[in-house]
Amino acid sequence: MWGSRKRRGDDTVECIACGETVDRSDAREYDKEGDRWDRTGKEFEHLCKSCHTDLCHQPRDELEALLVDIDAGGLDELEFLDRYCRAVEDRYGPVDSER
Ligand SMILES: [Zn+2]
Repeated sequence: MWGSRKRRGDDTVECIACGETVDRSDAREYDKEGDRWDRTGKEFEHLCKSCHTDLCHQPRDELEALLVDIDAGGLDELEFLDRYCRAVEDRYGPVDSER
C-alpha cells in the first residue's frame, strides 16, 4: 500500500473522518471538547488536512441569519424545530435527500 513510504515509528495518526493514516505533522488535532489548549490528561483525535478543511468550510455563517429569520428566540422548542426544519428545507431542499 504505502510500500515506498518511510515509516517513522508511531508518528502517524488516523483521521477520524475518512480513516486515512497521515503523518502526525500533517494532521490537525481535533479536540471534541473544543479546548485545544488544555492538554492535561487528554488524547486528541486527528483529522487529515482535507477533512479539516471541509469542516471549516461548512456554511455556518448562514445559520445565524436563518435563526434570526425564523425568530428563534421567541419560539418554544417545538415551534422552533418545526420552523427550523421548514426554513432549512426551503433553502437547501429536503434534509434527507442525497445531493
Ligand atoms: Zn480525513
